[in-house]
Formats: sequence, structure tokens, C-alpha cells
Amino acid sequence: MKQDIRLIKDIDIENKKVFLRCDFNVPLDEFRNITDERRIRSAIPTIRYCLDRGCAVILASHLGRPKGRDEDLSLLPVAKRLNRILAPEVQFADNVTGKDAVEKAAALKGGEVLLLENLRFDERETKNNESFAKELADMAEVFINDAFGVCHRAHASVEAITRFFDDDKKAAGFLLQKEIEFSQNLLRRPQRPFIAVVGGSKVSGKLQALHSLLSRVDKLIIGGGMAFTFLKAQGINVGNSLVEDELIEEADRIMKEAKKLGVKLYLPVDFVVAPAINNDSPVKFVTSQEIPSDWMGLDIGPASSRLFSEAIVDGQTILWNGPMGVFEVEKFSRGSIKMSHVISQAHATTVVGGGDTADVVARAGDADEMTFMSTGGGASLELIEGKELPGVRPLRMKEDEL
Ligand code: AMP
Repeated sequence: MKQDIRLIKDIDIENKKVFLRCDFNVPLDEFRNITDERRIRSAIPTIRYCLDRGCAVILASHLGRPKGRDEDLSLLPVAKRLNRILAPEVQFADNVTGKDAVEKAAALKGGEVLLLENLRFDERETKNNESFAKELADMAEVFINDAFGVCHRAHASVEAITRFFDDDKKAAGFLLQKEIEFSQNLLRRPQRPFIAVVGGSKVSGKLQALHSLLSRVDKLIIGGGMAFTFLKAQGINVGNSLVEDELIEEADRIMKEAKKLGVKLYLPVDFVVAPAINNDSPVKFVTSQEIPSDWMGLDIGPASSRLFSEAIVDGQTILWNGPMGVFEVEKFSRGSIKMSHVISQAHATTVVGGGDTADVVARAGDADEMTFMSTGGGASLELIEGKELPGVRPLRMKEDEL
């Protein structure tokens, strides 16, 4: 297939100063230690590609959701971690477009790397502010976007910045390319049976994705908190479990639509229930018909795990987005861990989307067994929904270039 976004390999970056938008939004513990460096590692191929071509590389990213400057969300720990991975020492600018950043960016030579401070320390970033975008763009000659995780956001370093670079001066990095290719191939011509496993907290966050998947998959497995809205739509008493009452009718419509399209829809048949969400809480294993009125379903039970495993076994393509239970609490993590094992061992193309799901897979020790782990939760959902991402649109080639 001809690629329709402009890729870093399609443009001349030789010896240029490159502004490389990365997604270094990594989890930190209370001492600001990075607890999972996958997002940093996934940026390395593009950084190395630029360095090999004599570029001066300015790295920029957000971290968390600061309201103005917030030292707890400084990117300094990322600079230190990059220093352990990359050969040239990574310089760090104490601000984003202030004096330190501008001077260091101007002085940066080929083969050198500079990381700017957290983009969101400047409130203009999330407002897609054009003058902020121009200040960023003025630092470099070429713009490369490798931050898939934020491509669904029209933010200054993702969207507005592209207005200041000619078409042959902006492109997607290798990570963004891989993310888009995987999603497109998955949705356009999946090997069948194509099975989607969807979980997580709410139906509302994934409603459009569910509709889009219905028209594409052979089987749809629904777990996690969102299953209860579907069960309630079937008239089942779900106790205190998470339910979106306003979406019960919609859930009913989805089930009818699945039937009409011949998509097999699976819901959990048993649960781990508890009166509260913590590891000290008493738990019971009950069928979906027996959830006590003041208890909550917090994980799928063993019979559901078996049912889902059997449904998955013949899958050729499996897409998983959203945990099966409150996996953050050990007592309620078994259903999600089991799902990770089952999917990772399937003889299928397996694609995992969403930060929480990637966390489950990492905890289960299955990350290397999956075909592809997407680095972006919201962005990958929007691709499934068939939406054009604001960060990707400006990198599309024109009709006559294809
Ligand atoms: P989402 O961001 O929508 O993918 O949801 C992920 C969150 O769903 C995780 O934090 C889980 O703890 C939560 N979750 C999964 N299953 C349940 C459940 N049965 N009840 C409440 N929350 C759940």
C-alpha cells in the first residue's frame, strides 16, 4: 500500500536542525523516578536516524497535566534517562521558549541533542496558540512528529506548529508511522476471524469505537465496568456495579445491531464482587445473576475468563482495549492478567491499545509476545473510530503526490 502521510524518510533532513515532538509522558513514582520507560525507548529509532544524518535534534514533549510551571512534572528525569540510552549527552533547557531554551537551541550543533522543559508549563501549548507554536518552530528547520499519544489533540506543538513548515519540511517519525500503519491495516484488511476485546470503566468513552468495531469484527467481547450497562439492559440486577443509566438504551441498540450484523457479542457470565474497591475488602465469586444488591462487580470471574478464552482461540486478528476489571487492585486483577496471557498466546496478530491495557500486559509479562502495543490510548481509540487525528492531518500528502 502507498503510504499517504509524509514520512521522515521522504524528506531531506541531512545536517538540519530538527524539532522532534515526542511523547515522553512517562509514569513517575513519588520520588520522580520513571517507573516505565517504554515511551522513551520507542522514540529512540527516530532520534538515532536524525543523529546519523548529522542533525541537531531538539526534543520536546509534555508530561502530565500541569497548570503552569510545576517542578514535580519537570522533564529533567527524562533527560537523565535519555542520557543512559543515547550516546551524545542530552542537554536540558530549563524552560520551553524562554531565554535558556532559545539560546541552547540556537547553539545546538549537528550530532547534539537538546530536550526542552515540559511543553505544558506554558499554558499556550494546550490552547493550540499560534504565537507559541511559532516560537517553537523558529528554533528549527524541520518538524518531525513522533508523538502518537497526543495526535488526537490540537495542541500547539502538534498542530499549530505545522503551519510554520513547508510540506517538504515536516513529516512523521518512525513511531507515528508504525502506529498509523498498524491501525490502518488492522481496520482495512484484518485477517479473519477479527475479534475485539473491549473493557475499561465506561461505555461512554468507547461508544463510537464500539459502533465502528461492530461493522468490522466477527466477535466483540465486552468486559470491565462497561459490561454492567449491557447486563442491566438485559434486565440483570448488577447491584452497586458501575452503570451508566443514560446509556442502557444505547447498550440495547448495540446488542441488537450486533445480532443484525451477525457479530457474536460476549458478556461476562460471572464476577468477582466486593463491597469496596480495596485489597482488604471481602470478595465473593458469583454468577452475573447473583450480584448482591450492595456489592460491586470488580473483575470478571473464572467462568467468564474461560468463555472469553474459548471465543478468542480461533482469532486471526485480536484487538484489545481496556482492562477486564479494576486491575490496579491485586484482588481484582486476575481477569485482566488471564486475558493478557490468552491473547498473547493466540496464533494471531495481536494489537493492544490504551495505557491501562498496556500496563496490564506489562505486569503480566506478556509485552514481548504481542504483535503491537500502541503507545497512545485516546489516539488509538480515535483511529478505530475512523477519525482523522489533528496531529496527522497536516502531514498527509496532497492527492498529486500519491
Ligand atoms: P478506561 O480508561 O475507560 O479504559 O478504563 C480503565 C479503568 O477501568 C481502570 O482504571 C479500571 O480500574 C477501570 N475498571 C475496569 N473494570 C471496572 C469495574 N468493574 N468497575 C469499575 N472500574 C473498572
